[in-house]
Amino acid sequence: MGHASVLEHVVLTFGVEGISRAASHQLVRHRIASYSQQSQRYVSADFGYVTPGTIGEAEGRKGKKGSAALAALYHDHMEKSSALYAKLLAGGIPPEDARFVLPNASETKILVTMNARELHHFFALRLCRRAQWEIREAAMRMFDLAVAQAPLLFEKAGPGCVRGKCPEGEFTCGQVAEVRKQFKSKGDPKEGTR
Ligand SMILES: Cc1cc2nc3c(=O)[nH]c(=O)nc-3n(C[C@H](O)[C@H](O)[C@H](O)COP(=O)(O)OP(=O)(O)OC[C@H]3O[C@@H](n4cnc5c(N)ncnc54)[C@H](O)[C@@H]3O)c2cc1C
Repeated sequence: MGHASVLEHVVLTFGVEGISRAASHQLVRHRIASYSQQSQRYVSADFGYVTPGTIGEAEGRKGKKGSAALAALYHDHMEKSSALYAKLLAGGIPPEDARFVLPNASETKILVTMNARELHHFFALRLCRRAQWEIREAAMRMFDLAVAQAPLLFEKAGPGCVRGKCPEGEFTCGQVAEVRKQFKSKGDPKEGTR
């Protein structure tokens, strides 16, 4: 009936690891939530980093456009950032300033607590196929956990188009039927997570 305020009494806490700072920045734009994130003032010089699928695939695509050479340049850039970071620290630059050379790809850990109402909103935006792949993947894992934990509360959750018209207008992915099928099957005990 849309009396969504009752959902605010339920909170879920997620430990999110192995995402990039690029993705965590998108996550923390959701304001009705609490966050605790690993500080970059205390990371070790050989920090982990995320490699996007397009670059990872390029590694195995010798000779083609977006070739292995581009992937090698990416990894080389990460190593150089790491080396420069270590050099700055060794030279007495405080970690809070040395971290300015760390890339968006740097891995981070973050604890997220959201109430169920905000989770519905978060899922509507970030499970959409127009959302960036990494935040979408994180949202999908959070969605599966939320559904497993509280199936009734998240019965109607999903990207915006699952409940009605695609909210993206002219930017629609054009795959509404497929998306609805995907989220319907998640509610099927034989196929989904419930
Ligand atoms: C596909 C996609 C592309 C995006 N691209 C950009 C971009 O190019 N640049 C950019 O800056 N951001 C971008 N964003 C982020 C977006 O603008 C929002 O900051 C983010 O999605 C958080 O959502 P929100 O503001 O709706 O809600 P939340 O912060 O999750 O808050 C939930 C709801 O609470 C209410 N609320 C919260 N705070 C306030 C307030 N101060 N006043 C009134 N109501 C409030 C609103 O109803 C809001 O929808 C993008 C997001 C997506 C999904």
